[in-house]
Amino acid sequence: TRTITLKNRPTGKPELTDFGFTTSEIPELKEGEVLVRARYVSVDPYLRGRMSDAPSYIPPFELNKPMASGVIAEVLESKSRNFSKGDYVSGLLPWKETQVITADGLIKVDPDKAPLSAYLGVLGMTGLTAYLGLTEIGKPKMGETLLVSGAAGAVGSVTGQIGKILGLRVVGIAGTDEKVEMLKSEFGFDDAINYKTTENMVEAIASACPDGVDVYFDNVGGVISEAVLFNINKFSRTVNCGAISVYNNTELPKSISVQPFLVKKSSSMQGFVVTDFADKHSEGVRQLAEWFSQGKLKFSETIREGFENIPQAFLDLFDGKNKGKMVVKL
Ligand code: NDP
Repeated sequence: TRTITLKNRPTGKPELTDFGFTTSEIPELKEGEVLVRARYVSVDPYLRGRMSDAPSYIPPFELNKPMASGVIAEVLESKSRNFSKGDYVSGLLPWKETQVITADGLIKVDPDKAPLSAYLGVLGMTGLTAYLGLTEIGKPKMGETLLVSGAAGAVGSVTGQIGKILGLRVVGIAGTDEKVEMLKSEFGFDDAINYKTTENMVEAIASACPDGVDVYFDNVGGVISEAVLFNINKFSRTVNCGAISVYNNTELPKSISVQPFLVKKSSSMQGFVVTDFADKHSEGVRQLAEWFSQGKLKFSETIREGFENIPQAFLDLFDGKNKGKMVVKL
């Protein structure tokens, strides 16, 4: 079976040559283990951080060892009491086509309730990130204005839709006209801005958010987020979810000083990782599944095919080639 490994630690933007492919035999199944075949593999911007050896909230990948991410797999054989042949499971698994793993840490997913890939997106880690980041840190109140950057991606598209469910005015920022259109027509955003074709983001945000920004859900950081500062309201909250625009930077960016903006507006900024709220994950999944089954949450995804195309799908996240959740189908 094939495995994808980390071959080099990238400097700057990762490249295909940073990934390696190896093949190996599948070991015998032991008590408590399952043999699984990967069906859908998630690629996520945060994996960029794990490719470097800088200390972070999650340990780095080791050189020449497998890359790993959220995977939906089919159980081919089981020596675990909890799973049977034919079950589908979700887990944080190495990038291998077929593998023997201990059954601990796997969660059964139901293909009759939602498409399998949805368990990596709207009903999985990125959906939970949107829901918990917005509700626990953004603390939005009905009628407020929510601005979302990276709005057409996996986290952003769910964040904006939840904002609408909670009765907010929702504005998105994304990188193509097609994405801007999709946010408004498919996901119900009140307005959206293409940051790549907009010259003056400060003014564009002001005009899309005439009452100012109460909650800023930030997926991108960098200059886009600097422009938001000029539009924040008194007692506004910024949810620092991610900063993809600077993940590939090789030098510390020159940036404006945020403190005076926060002082003047008694505004707060708070970072988080979704695992901070592990005790709220099951409640979050329940809520997301309820909205999903009621048709209130649409999910959008970009599906690539083939095990060998996982690295390219990952790289394409940094060029905005995905709409919604990027997954690879095997
Ligand atoms: P997305 O599906 O949003 O994919 C990444 C998107 O980022 C691209 O489609 C692209 O869209 C946009 N992008 C890429 N480069 C830039 C850039 N230089 N400037 C602005 N936008 C850019 O990924 P996710 O939804 O999985 O993740 C979104 C963010 O949330 C990331 O920063 C990620 O690290 C973070 N995250 C945080 C978690 C947490 O626990 N805190 C958990 C999960 C994700 P476009 O065409 O609009 O440029």
